[in-house]
Amino acid sequence: MYKSMNNTDDFKQYWFYGILPVTDNEEVFMNHTLDQLKAYLGKMRQYEHVLSLLYWDMNTMAPEKGMETRVGAINYFSTEQFRLSTSDELGEMLRELSEPEQFDTLDAAMQLTVKRYLRDYERFKRIPEDFYTSYTEAKTRSEKAWEKAKRSSDFSEFAPHLEKVISMTKEYVHYMEPDEDPYDVLLGLYEEGMDSATIDRVFDELKEELPPLLKKIEESPKPDLRALEGSYDINAQKKVQDMLLRYIGFDADAGATAESEHPFTLDLCIGDVRVTNHYKEDDPLSAMFSAIHEGGHAIFGQSIDPAYENTAAEKVELMGLHESQSRFYENILGRRRSFWTPIYDRLGELLPQFRRIPLDTFCRAINDVHPSMIRTEADEVTYCLHIILRYEMEKAIFRENVPVDQLPRLWNDWMEELLGIRPENDGEGILQDMHWSDGSFGYFPSYLLGSMYDGMFLEALEDEMGSVDTILEEGRIGEITEWLNKKIHRYGSLYTSAEVLQRVCGRELTARPLLDYFNRKYSELYGFKR
Ligand code: ZN
Repeated sequence: MYKSMNNTDDFKQYWFYGILPVTDNEEVFMNHTLDQLKAYLGKMRQYEHVLSLLYWDMNTMAPEKGMETRVGAINYFSTEQFRLSTSDELGEMLRELSEPEQFDTLDAAMQLTVKRYLRDYERFKRIPEDFYTSYTEAKTRSEKAWEKAKRSSDFSEFAPHLEKVISMTKEYVHYMEPDEDPYDVLLGLYEEGMDSATIDRVFDELKEELPPLLKKIEESPKPDLRALEGSYDINAQKKVQDMLLRYIGFDADAGATAESEHPFTLDLCIGDVRVTNHYKEDDPLSAMFSAIHEGGHAIFGQSIDPAYENTAAEKVELMGLHESQSRFYENILGRRRSFWTPIYDRLGELLPQFRRIPLDTFCRAINDVHPSMIRTEADEVTYCLHIILRYEMEKAIFRENVPVDQLPRLWNDWMEELLGIRPENDGEGILQDMHWSDGSFGYFPSYLLGSMYDGMFLEALEDEMGSVDTILEEGRIGEITEWLNKKIHRYGSLYTSAEVLQRVCGRELTARPLLDYFNRKYSELYGFKR
């Protein structure tokens, strides 16, 4: 199985349990089943590699007229790959290696590999092959229908596709885990071990405290954004992206960049992690913060310990944890004055307009908080409410079976309740995100989980290393990246997010540190009492 990687700001996961065949000179007593498994997974990896490159190409270069052929190629390789991941041969090897006398001899990363593969094998084994093929096809067509519907702001064009994808997604998870709650299964696909009881608990904390904070912000004097108005050269913006990627620690020798409609990150392997960006002449901040965000994803992928290469730990299926790293760079670091102090002159050299804008004015502009319609353009405070809206919608779809034609109104009602504004059309309402068109229900909460992890990581980092502002002002951002490498990145997905929080912060998930960070930061910036 693979995730389609399309035009979101997401890091999208790939099933790269890439395990290369072992070479000769094996020791006499070596585990032959383990050898066979490694060789088999190596074969699967080749299919995954091809699929990923097809997606990369489709989203960066491929022309519209070749789309049908491209869809056919993707269907072919994903079906072949699905066959490999559900073959009896694979099942036998995994079952044998999961017997205690064999399992106990494996190292931690290999144990994880056997455990995850066996779980996925058993899940996929329950899915009929013809269903899987038609599900893949329905999702691909639905993505295309969504793109058109979004452009014309016409939900009715997309509705039949969405209805089909919802009912097939329900069927899909029911095949996988017939005895479990379908929405919890979906949440677990993107953040292992996560369930809606935990999410309800922490989202409730946010629902209670964010609206009053937002009210205080709205009642305070607003930043003047006119200084940023103007036209910004696209080639210069690309140089700014390179400068920012280098500044935060992206390894250009283990990565590549390209343009796409919406920015995303693609992990091919530890030595090849790619990011895309998009450029708007009248909005240089968009590409700058996308570069920092995707760069954060990429640094995670590039910093996994090579010892875990070719094991399941190399492949980070924990989307909340992945988002926490991109958002840590983008928001926790990138929206601080101290982040820009060492590089603001350089920014002015590349984009001369910034020479006229004092750093303080710039910092107010990048922390302008106000309710708005579009999630991907939202500030870090109202962003949380955008995610809560989508989470409530997904529960309505999967738990209450709300009919598709009622979804646009439900969306608008939630928008009004949480953010106090109402979309004028579905283009700026329910049609804005692509996630549901490709069946990625349960993905949205991971963005906000990531932000909550960030609040906790920030607290732990400052406990150990002192003020982040001091570190940044002194140009020592590399030390922060090193800390993240050492505490989080190097392990890949060896630990679940809950385990990472315990290891790094010594406690379970809570929204408190994120809320404290918001209150402290915005009361200072906007000058109100906490
Ligand atoms: Zn992301």
